[in-house]
Amino acid sequence: MQGIGKGHPHAMGHPHGMRNVIDYDKNPFIVIWEVTRACQLKCIHCRADAQLTPDPRELSHQEGINLIDQIYEMDNPMLVFTGGDCMMREDLYELADYAIKKGMRVSMTPSATDNVTKEKMKLFKDVGLSRWGFSLDGPTPEIHDHFRGTPGSFDLTVEKIKYLNELDMPLQINTVISRWNYDSLEQMSKLVAELGAVMWYIFLLVPTGRGQMDACISPAEHEKVFRWLYELSKTAPYDIKTTAAQHYRRVVLQQKTRDQLIEKGEIHYEDSITTDFASMHDGLKRAPKGVNDGNGFAFVSHIGDVMPSGLLPIVGGNIRDTPLAEIYREAKVFKDLRQPDNYKGKCGVCEYNKMCGGSRSRTYAVTGDYMESEPFCVYIPQAMRNKETTPTV
Ligand code: SF4
Repeated sequence: MQGIGKGHPHAMGHPHGMRNVIDYDKNPFIVIWEVTRACQLKCIHCRADAQLTPDPRELSHQEGINLIDQIYEMDNPMLVFTGGDCMMREDLYELADYAIKKGMRVSMTPSATDNVTKEKMKLFKDVGLSRWGFSLDGPTPEIHDHFRGTPGSFDLTVEKIKYLNELDMPLQINTVISRWNYDSLEQMSKLVAELGAVMWYIFLLVPTGRGQMDACISPAEHEKVFRWLYELSKTAPYDIKTTAAQHYRRVVLQQKTRDQLIEKGEIHYEDSITTDFASMHDGLKRAPKGVNDGNGFAFVSHIGDVMPSGLLPIVGGNIRDTPLAEIYREAKVFKDLRQPDNYKGKCGVCEYNKMCGGSRSRTYAVTGDYMESEPFCVYIPQAMRNKETTPTV
């Protein structure tokens, strides 16, 4: 899942309630483990390029237990099981039970297939799973089923969601935004409410795996979606979080600052369009620090490769040879990614780069260089502006 399909509930609170003091150079906020790559669906944007049967090299049960121990030792970050379809892993229940009994917060996002029965859902609820994520990529069967490559997937997902509601299990809906559903987001947002989700998790398509470049929305459309989401977040009965959309944080900060100033009467709406908000966030012109690929975030593949994200396939090491903590703290790709001031182009000089930094995964997918600038952001950093001629965002 981080991944994609592949939920990243960054937003669930830290188990120790210490989110703000985690040192991302030492420990991640969240670890996504791709427990298997097996999956019965054939989603057109699939990061994992999932297969019907499990890879024989997949981590064994004992290796999985050992991995959970290692993750726990890193200040007990959030743990997410992803796939493929994590329900295709036969010891999934035992793994969840083991981690939850240790005191970890575990969530997962299985594929909605006949494999997911109400009985299995109840087992996971009873063991203490924090949240269940399902993917819905459109408000109608036509849109969703096309995306998932499987006729009937929409109806099956809605049916499974009803079970979750009956069991009172908190539901997260994951949606990949692309050219295919861009025009139906309003309708989609209503469906998320009707289905009783506590969280709508938005992924902005990264053109990797089966996700293709021409299915991505444009940079300007990204900005439009972010502003729309910010307005929606004020009234929606669910939380909204994003992934591969770090610049949504920049938009939220800009819009919130604008709203506050208008409310206090310090600025009129018309003037707010051309006001520069970037310097107003704290006295040091710094924005808060945010999780990004390899920076508060780690992904462990089905065969134990450790990567900054499931969408940034550069391997820092393998847990069969090297402890997870050593890879996360010492591998070059992880250390590079935790230095936003070293990013190239506008992200390197942007005043928002500690809280945003752009999607490193998308940057890599589009340019082949994970240190390059986010290609789908319209913002022009202060340091690059000619104030005489360039309007502020
Ligand atoms: S320029 Fe880069 S760091 Fe700045 S807001 Fe855009 S994506 Fe984020």
